[in-house]
Amino acid sequence: MTQVTATSHGADKTGGAQDSVTLRVRDLRKSFGGNEVLRGIDLDVRTGEFLTLLGPSGSGKTTLLRIIAGFESHTSGEMLLRGRDIAGLSPSERGLGMVFQQYALFPHMTVADNVAYGLRMRGWDRGKIGKRVSEMLEIVGLPHLSGRKPRQLSGGQQQRVAFARALAYAPQLLLMDEPLGALDRSLRLQLEEEIKRVHRQMGTTVIYVTHDQEEALVLSDRIAIMEEGRFAGLDTPTALYQRPPSTFVAKFF
Ligand code: ADP
Repeated sequence: MTQVTATSHGADKTGGAQDSVTLRVRDLRKSFGGNEVLRGIDLDVRTGEFLTLLGPSGSGKTTLLRIIAGFESHTSGEMLLRGRDIAGLSPSERGLGMVFQQYALFPHMTVADNVAYGLRMRGWDRGKIGKRVSEMLEIVGLPHLSGRKPRQLSGGQQQRVAFARALAYAPQLLLMDEPLGALDRSLRLQLEEEIKRVHRQMGTTVIYVTHDQEEALVLSDRIAIMEEGRFAGLDTPTALYQRPPSTFVAKFF
């Protein structure tokens, strides 16, 4: 197994005052026209944790993720990444890793070039890029496919490459929006295991969006349940399952 030490800051997940916070969100609001779709979101994403936004379609999950990514403006509120106000920064200045369905792989580039892309943009030298790309393809189990084009890969393999591309430059925070949504069930289960393993191995802080309860239960350290632009509950899967704070949350499990 390849060890990646640069990002292994996720060891402390025990809770309590010593936990550091990667992303702090305070009273975040968003309106489209007169329609308020985020209605005062408060969230501390702890360093190294896997946090899932779970909720029905239209509850505001994707909008929240897109605002954190910088693809959508917010109406009011605060967002601090490791203490730094990111509200005025472009998506690339925020330096986050992203696996979104609309950010497909570059079809004309090989697998290796797709994974290398963000590293080239950041001015890494060739040798270092080559080493990192091999390391990442090893981690996602695709070292033998580095010369292929995306169209020569299965859906699951493409998702693995997208995952490797997003993690290659060791982002402080990885955002994933329904990355397994388009895949069939057995492949989804397989990739869930893989995502869990890579998260553990690299210690990356993750915000993951899904409407699939089972997926959220399997993957998450904590789950934020979204209901009409607010959090109806935010806790560990066990706590939410055993002591749901409302009937809405209970309905989800
Ligand atoms: P989810 O990801 O939970 O399905 P979304 O964040 O996509 O929810 O949507 C939340 C609400 O915001 C929905 O009512 C949706 O119609 C609305 N919405 C999202 N994007 C836009 C937009 N660009 N313009 C207007 N309304 C939007």
